[in-house]
Amino acid sequence: MASSVKVAVRVRPFNNRETNRGAKCVIQMQDKSTCIINPKQPKDTPKSFTFDYSYWSHSTAEDPCFASQRQVYLDIGEEMLLHAFEGYNVCIFAYGQTGAGKSYTMMGKQEPEQQGIIPQLCEDLFKRTAENCDPDLSYSVEVSYMEIYCERVRDLLNPKSKGPLRVREHPIMGPYVEDLSKLAVTNYSDIADLMDCGNKARTVAATNMNETSSRSHAVFTILFTQRRHDQMTNLDTEKVSKISLVDLAGSERADSSGAKGMRLKEGANINKSLTTLGKVISALADMQSTKKRKSDFIPYRDSVLTWLLRENLGGNSRTAMIAALSPADINYEETLSTLRYADRAK
Ligand code: ADP
Repeated sequence: MASSVKVAVRVRPFNNRETNRGAKCVIQMQDKSTCIINPKQPKDTPKSFTFDYSYWSHSTAEDPCFASQRQVYLDIGEEMLLHAFEGYNVCIFAYGQTGAGKSYTMMGKQEPEQQGIIPQLCEDLFKRTAENCDPDLSYSVEVSYMEIYCERVRDLLNPKSKGPLRVREHPIMGPYVEDLSKLAVTNYSDIADLMDCGNKARTVAATNMNETSSRSHAVFTILFTQRRHDQMTNLDTEKVSKISLVDLAGSERADSSGAKGMRLKEGANINKSLTTLGKVISALADMQSTKKRKSDFIPYRDSVLTWLLRENLGGNSRTAMIAALSPADINYEETLSTLRYADRAK
């Protein structure tokens, strides 16, 4: 039986620092499989994993595993968007060590061919709604953008909002963030402007490991409503899908960045949400494979991130995860732990 979670891994090219230091590549990919070689024991058999997609980005486009931003969108983003049109809630998240390529995969860069999943999905959403010729069908799109840092939620679309927002539970709609801005948008450029402001507002703090390492989760949500008008009864029916696009905090362990005090606390909080997310996803995958219907044991409540994503992870939803990998020998331990995390999500 197919798993409920689509899992992809994507290795980024070497950065200049790695090239200058003569870093060795510890990742090999072929079709859907990804192998990792322990640089301390290069003669050992590489550890091998299989995913829905293994994306390579080292060399030229002739390489069969090479994946452009467009390819990643077509494989994962478009599929999730089509599920949203069918009425499912969907969630795509990027996991991995800081600097491994999460933001590149989710947001990308300005140049059209370098745009990540979020801009391509938004553009595609508006393109498809504009093509609608059914006079009884109408659409509306609202977006919100928040940051979860140390289990606290901040509104990225309203930088003036003071202090963390409260997380509450609606008896029917489930968990939500009180007073979080939800802005109606009618075209992609509205979204692009909002995201730009939101990204500037993100908390970025330096750690010993990386100057601009991101220690918070960024959750971009699109509330997509399809409204059908029945001429006979003059009634409207609505299909609402929540599309959550999540750039997770760096998964590196606190100890590897030499963190102390506040940084260590941050690390513990980040790891708690990432560990809980991993547990939730593997519990959902088990549930799917054993056809158990009970969801009592899924620990959504153990972190703010999983609690808020509850409606996007279980039940009537489709989830995809992209694990970003560094190719360099120096990151072997972190990369192996990312591969294990991705493997458990299947
Ligand atoms: P993260 O969000 O995980 O901290 P970034 O997405 O910022 O990492 O990636 C670090 C650097 O590597 C950026 O300069 C980014 O442009 C580059 N990069 C990441 N993934 C790729 C890729 N698949 N192809 C080309 N460059 C990439």
